[in-house]
Amino acid sequence: MRLRILLGAVLAAGLAAASAHATARPLRPADAALLKRPPTKEEVIAENVAKRLTRLTPEVRCGPLGISLPPGELVTGITLLPPHGQATYFLLLPQMCNYLAWFRADPERYDPTLCTDDSCLNTDGLAALALATVSHESYHVLGYRNEAQVECYGMQSIWYVATSLGASVAEGQRIAAFYWKDIYAEREQSTPTYWSPECRDGGKYDLRPKSTSWPS
Ligand SMILES: [Zn+2]
Repeated sequence: MRLRILLGAVLAAGLAAASAHATARPLRPADAALLKRPPTKEEVIAENVAKRLTRLTPEVRCGPLGISLPPGELVTGITLLPPHGQATYFLLLPQMCNYLAWFRADPERYDPTLCTDDSCLNTDGLAALALATVSHESYHVLGYRNEAQVECYGMQSIWYVATSLGASVAEGQRIAAFYWKDIYAEREQSTPTYWSPECRDGGKYDLRPKSTSWPS
């Protein structure tokens, strides 16, 4: 998941990143060591969420993503594409893995609608980004490659990731609404390949066209 760092964006402090992203790249021999070692506690948490979402058995590792980026861009996760067949691995930035574990330990602590200052919004924004990144990469594992479609589907499953980690449905929906309003909206400018006008209630990428609730 790729983000352009936008100073002065809604997530004002630190994160400063209205648009984080997840992406995909070829699986390389240099990945072998990371993929071979047993998963850490944080990696198991991410794997369990991805398994529930995809009904597959993707493996997740937390570590360097193995890509170089222009200044001002942040990538939070990456799916590793084998030469043939389906992807079965994704990598997350260690910071994203930490947020998943912290979220699971105390989901109520990361409800952005309860924030009263920028520091809280920054923290809760990063937590929302971590949920969205697992969700985004999971759609790559399911075989989707179009980033705008993947990002839109991922956003619509944030509530599911949140509830998988112990949040109430209501909180999961609030986090998804926050992501839609404060993070997704920035993508049209900051990372347009991750944005689509069809990502809306009733749009082409609406996973629940019969429901008027959005994005959950
Ligand atoms: Zn992606």
